[in-house]
Amino acid sequence: MKKKINIGLLGLGTVGTGVVKLLHANGQSIAQKVGAAIEVKKIMVRNANKPRSIAVDHLITTDFDDILNDPEIDIVVELMGGETPAKDYMLRALQAGKQVVTANKDVMAKYGRELFAAAEAKQVDLMFEASVGGGIPIIRPLKQCLAGNKITEIMGIINGTTNYMLTKMTNEFLDFDDVLKEAQAKGYAEADPTADVGGFDAARKIAILASIAFGARVSLDDVSVEGITRISKDDIEYASELGYIIKLLAIAKEDERGIDVRVHPAFVPGNHPLASVNDVFNAIYIKGDAIGEAMFYGRGAGEMPTASAVVGDIIDVSRNIQHGLTSRILCTCFDQKNFCPIEKTESPYYIRMLVEDKPGVFAAIASAFAEQQVSLHSVIQRRKINKCAEVVLITYRVTDAHLRSAISMIKELSVVSKIQSIVRVEAEEI
Ligand code: NAP
Repeated sequence: MKKKINIGLLGLGTVGTGVVKLLHANGQSIAQKVGAAIEVKKIMVRNANKPRSIAVDHLITTDFDDILNDPEIDIVVELMGGETPAKDYMLRALQAGKQVVTANKDVMAKYGRELFAAAEAKQVDLMFEASVGGGIPIIRPLKQCLAGNKITEIMGIINGTTNYMLTKMTNEFLDFDDVLKEAQAKGYAEADPTADVGGFDAARKIAILASIAFGARVSLDDVSVEGITRISKDDIEYASELGYIIKLLAIAKEDERGIDVRVHPAFVPGNHPLASVNDVFNAIYIKGDAIGEAMFYGRGAGEMPTASAVVGDIIDVSRNIQHGLTSRILCTCFDQKNFCPIEKTESPYYIRMLVEDKPGVFAAIASAFAEQQVSLHSVIQRRKINKCAEVVLITYRVTDAHLRSAISMIKELSVVSKIQSIVRVEAEEI
């Protein structure tokens, strides 16, 4: 058994700093759990002269080889972010026989297979708990605690920025643009918010979760992605009038049609466990054949919550080192599975449109829907905008393909001025 386990840290930003702090604050109890002290031996950063909030100047390097070629470093902890050079560094560390812990969803979603192969070849660990859901335990529960289940569905709120924005829009009746500006001012949204509001951050995370849940590799290209940029405060008001909350959902389902993985805004019934997940909080709701329903809830980002997940991985890897058990659980994508094309996916839909305010208009719209086998559950006509009537419709369950065909027909009707928005309703029955 080792007396000391040495860490080489790549990155000392938000999460890296949190990891150093947490290893220091709880060092004694962590050492007891592992049977060895865990020490950060070197830290690689981009700019060695940047002032740091913790006293670690003596550990700083800007040369990756200082970490790679140090035989005393057991675990490389990658917290730089981005694909390049993070992926290359992780690969080289694994090839050199070092254990790797990362919080990097971009690299894990895109290069997971290659990195796992490298870990397998050297019989080392590759752990990535913090890459999805920040501080919320979800990778390990899926890979271990729930491994006996057949997982049929994952539905998550896994992007804190968009959840903060949608919560603000809902509670304060604000428009998307105003909320985005505020989120940027508070540091919750990046200057370029595309990855968050466009749904791509959530798409990477659900690709990782779906791969584990269904035991088959799901890449970013397999995820159908739609962000929240078209959601207006009017949609949010109608949703609440109808008993729903709009959330950006990351969804992965498996049934006889194949695997269906997507990210999009959705009407969530007010009594669904995900409806009350607000602000920057994340939650992941899972259905398994044995467990039934389970939900994991907590802080999806931030210095210490994310450090919590990273340090958990460091401890797990360290215990494996101590017992000669590294590489016990690596890639779990054993199968190749079919994907359900988005056109075949089914749900009820909310549609908001502007139509001419005269008799017979609704009959024309209803017959176009009927022709495409779309049945209407409810219709609201509440107000006029520039002499047009605003009509809101909720359909029964319908395939995406039928819905799209009906919308194409309706757009051609002379009495329809504009289709303002279309949002899925995420409910089995309405
Ligand atoms: P960050 O604050 O931007 O810090 C990045 C760190 O990496 C900095 O110390 C930077 O050096 C260093 N770095 C960047 N590029 C480098 C390069 N080419 N060579 C050497 N060092 C480099 O990032 P973060 O927020 O801590 O995020 C780290 C990782 O955790 C990312 O993968 C992120 O997606 C993931 N994550 C973050 C959170 C969160 O709440 N922040 C939550 C979940 C997951 P300098 O300090 O010299 O600039």
